[in-house]
Amino acid sequence: NSFSSLQIDEVYINKLREKDIVVPSPIQAESIPVILSGKDVVAQSQTGSGKTLAYVLPLLQQVDKNSREVQGIVIVPTRELGFQILETLQLLADEAGIRVQGLIGGAALTRQIDKLKLRPQLIVGTPGRVMELLKLRKLSVHHVKTVVVDEVDQVFDLGSMREVEVIFKGTQRNRQMLFFSATMPEPIQAVISRWMQDPVYVQI
Ligand code: AMP
Repeated sequence: NSFSSLQIDEVYINKLREKDIVVPSPIQAESIPVILSGKDVVAQSQTGSGKTLAYVLPLLQQVDKNSREVQGIVIVPTRELGFQILETLQLLADEAGIRVQGLIGGAALTRQIDKLKLRPQLIVGTPGRVMELLKLRKLSVHHVKTVVVDEVDQVFDLGSMREVEVIFKGTQRNRQMLFFSATMPEPIQAVISRWMQDPVYVQI
């Protein structure tokens, strides 16, 4: 039971060890191999379970470092969660020379537009801000091959699911979809059947 047996790269294992993260949590042990196999995943798990690393590690490992396109996007309901995930992602991405950027509402739009010129490969964003940048044509999700939605139930509660589905539409047709949520109410099931193919359900 180790990150190396889950096929996680040495560079990330070493960084995680500095944070005393050595043994994968149950959600990580269950989700990481399925995500790395390319399948769509619906994971039901609480905050504090280690769900962030469960998708952040595979997301990083699936980046083509030679590409200058946005390849993966993490959509989150709130700014606070966005900053939290960005911090975890940035720490690991720096080790691998992968460029990440936050597109989080409330922060200065012009600064985000400027930073997009540095060609981030992974994005963490809130639905409204991501939509705004798509409409302004400052962001393209055309090459996105992995879409993560964290706290899907919250995204619904905040009424942002329509925007999120518009973002989905702009991504690659054969995209991999990963949903993380504490609860799985009926409307989420409908979105799953609209957007996912033969998803694997992980419940911890
Ligand atoms: P999350 O559920 O993703 O918000 O993570 C909750 C906390 O658990 C964070 O502070 C992580 O750094 C920590 N954490 C995540 N995975 C592990 C692990 N495998 N072992 C120990 N701590 C972890």
